[in-house]
Amino acid sequence: MRAGIYARISQDPYETTLGVQRQIEDCTREAKRRGWEIIETYVDNDVSATRSKVRPEYVRMMADVAHGHINALIVWDIDRLTRTPRELEDIIDLADKMNLSMANIGGEIDLSTPQGKMTARIKGSVARHESDQSSRRLKRAYQQRAMAGKMHGYAGFGFQRVDRDGELWDIPHPEQAEIVNEGARRYAAGESLRGICQDFMRRGISGPKTDNWTTTTLRQIMQRPVNIGLRQYRGEIIGKANADPIMTEDLYNQVMARLNDPERIKHALGRTPLYLLTSIAKCGFCGGTMRMTRARVVSGKNAPDQYNCKDCFKVRRKREPVDQIVTGAVIARLGDPKIMVALSKDTKGELPRLRDKLDGLKARLDVAADQFAEGTITGDQLKRINSKIMPDLEETKRRVGHLEGTNPVLALIGRDAAQSWENAPLEIQRQVIDALMTVTIMPAGSGGHFDPELIKIEWKV
Ligand SMILES: [Zn+2]
Repeated sequence: MRAGIYARISQDPYETTLGVQRQIEDCTREAKRRGWEIIETYVDNDVSATRSKVRPEYVRMMADVAHGHINALIVWDIDRLTRTPRELEDIIDLADKMNLSMANIGGEIDLSTPQGKMTARIKGSVARHESDQSSRRLKRAYQQRAMAGKMHGYAGFGFQRVDRDGELWDIPHPEQAEIVNEGARRYAAGESLRGICQDFMRRGISGPKTDNWTTTTLRQIMQRPVNIGLRQYRGEIIGKANADPIMTEDLYNQVMARLNDPERIKHALGRTPLYLLTSIAKCGFCGGTMRMTRARVVSGKNAPDQYNCKDCFKVRRKREPVDQIVTGAVIARLGDPKIMVALSKDTKGELPRLRDKLDGLKARLDVAADQFAEGTITGDQLKRINSKIMPDLEETKRRVGHLEGTNPVLALIGRDAAQSWENAPLEIQRQVIDALMTVTIMPAGSGGHFDPELIKIEWKV
């Protein structure tokens, strides 16, 4: 067979020449598969939507068929070849007369039988087909671009797209990248996805596309390999993306290690306490822990939210005033500069960096262990990785341990402790309370007036 390839691009959303090159690649492969020899390649690049525009290569191709120079034709699909029913009929006539063999990608265009002609006509006229094909072309374009590390679609949340030396490139979006990083840092530090989402919404931070943040959205955003400049295609990392990273590999690894930790997945199904002092406050009668009972009506009376001892059932107190007392005490304490000194010896402010590094090293160990478990790396490789990481890890641990007293309180200490506290999510508030103090709710006599003196606060630092 003396075959010709006919390629045409009408509206390629990305790069016109790439689109043509793509069609030719696929057609060449198809020719090879069929054992056809390619002796001509025709390329029309009519980007415009004007259908009357003359296609010089189409005309040349038709002439070559008419003269018998080629007796086979490969196109991406029939819609690449003909743009109108009129053109299709011309091809059908010519194919009849010249006994032209035709193929498209993944199929035969058999114009020698009535059935084939009908198929071609249907294909040429059904609009749905056109959109199917464009989506197939798009997918092919995605694949090609993915392989080349190029960006497609829109810039993901956290990124903005720029032109860099003629290439589309994703760079960190000034505000969104910070949001992604904040989410990742907080998640890696132990907050729940839900808590972070709630906090984002409370602060009025818009999510991707909507104002809503769901745990699914947040998880998806945090685990994108493009966050560290890598390209994923169909679940596999296939190389570098045309993107600048928006977070450090350390942080990314920490997030991934926690997301994939089976224990975490189990815990995530459990409920996070919704109240400030649940399981933190102690019963002054039996030493048991207090839990929250929601407001309800008891024998015709309105019973407000209250903390109850879940062990002896003898101590209970209205929740709101207890929370207020504890909150006031914490904020006052957070504003005290002495607490920083008490909590840490980090006079040079090295702690955040060291803690990040430590977590990153731990995560790398975890990842290596996972890879070993999955069989991706051998025991020897695991040993090598571990022996490389361990000395660094031990040294970092030692330095962090030296500088660090109790945390996460340190993050809330500052000039505006009240504001920091206000902004902190419930989980962090609870961690801070737990780190700073013990709260004991002393038994009250019958009488029912709330007595602040019966809420005992003892400082741990
Ligand atoms: Zn008790």
